[in-house]
Amino acid sequence: MKLRIAIQKSGRLHEDSIKLLKECGIDINNGVNKLKTEATNFPLEVFFLRDDDIPQYVEDGVADIGIVGENVVLEKSRPPIRTVEKLGFGKCRLAMAVPRSMEYNSIKDLDGQRIATSYPGILGDFLAKMGITAEIHEISGSVEIAPGIGLADAICDLVSSGSTLFMNGLKEVETVLRSEAILVANDKLTAEQQQLLAKLIFRIQAVKKAKNNKYILLNAPNDKLSEIIGLLPGMKSPTVLPLAEAGWSSVHSVLNENEFWDIIESLKEAGAQGILVVPIEKMVI
Ligand code: ATP
Ligand code: MG
Repeated sequence: MKLRIAIQKSGRLHEDSIKLLKECGIDINNGVNKLKTEATNFPLEVFFLRDDDIPQYVEDGVADIGIVGENVVLEKSRPPIRTVEKLGFGKCRLAMAVPRSMEYNSIKDLDGQRIATSYPGILGDFLAKMGITAEIHEISGSVEIAPGIGLADAICDLVSSGSTLFMNGLKEVETVLRSEAILVANDKLTAEQQQLLAKLIFRIQAVKKAKNNKYILLNAPNDKLSEIIGLLPGMKSPTVLPLAEAGWSSVHSVLNENEFWDIIESLKEAGAQGILVVPIEKMVI
């Protein structure tokens, strides 16, 4: 029994999908120009597909699970297929943009306009929710040139940095959806496949947690220890070891990325020295 996973054949999610599997300890051959491959050390078969096709393949059970952008799932699979885990890469937003020269005050300015997009489903829902009536022009690629060639007044397209919009004389005016890569699954997995999926999810969560946390080591004068320990959350509580030099200790702990800089500053103020911060590879709590 194997679990079959569909990932993007090439494109923005391809490398990060493979990297995630590798970080989960799963060895596969990189499959550009291949349809499928097998992991050597996990019962996993990998299918390489166009991202647009992944939701359908998983829904139909041709693949059991898949890695794909949330944007694609919401557009192509209605009602959306089961999401089992957000993956933290492929982050982008589906945004509305208009020519920089257009005066834009609110979404009402889009009423009666022509909007070009590759996401007619998501855009249609958004406009309905906002009470806007607009003409949706579905085009499959290079949406950003539509206003320049007179095909549309506005566009709704994926954006990450915004540089493509800028180069095409457009400005971003509304966020329609925030998206990242997700792991989706067919609902009719066998018990054995469910178990394999649970194993994979367990590994993915360990990798994700590790990425959000850092291991920190520092030296503290013993008379400042309690204050310094008070600043450190740690997995259970920080580890404290005596240094060879009397009156000093080494303190080890784990810090979350979000609180990282604030805590480092407080630690220095409290008298910590020789602070080392190192990446964590896997983290199981
Ligand atoms: P395919 O050949 O598989 O159909 P594609 O050209 O449709 O590929 P890509 O451009 O490779 O798709 O994007 C894949 C996914 O990457 C998007 O659906 C989206 O979830 C995510 N993504 C992240 N940042 C961006 C961005 N700036 N522009 C477009 N997609 C992005
Ligand atoms: Mg595509």
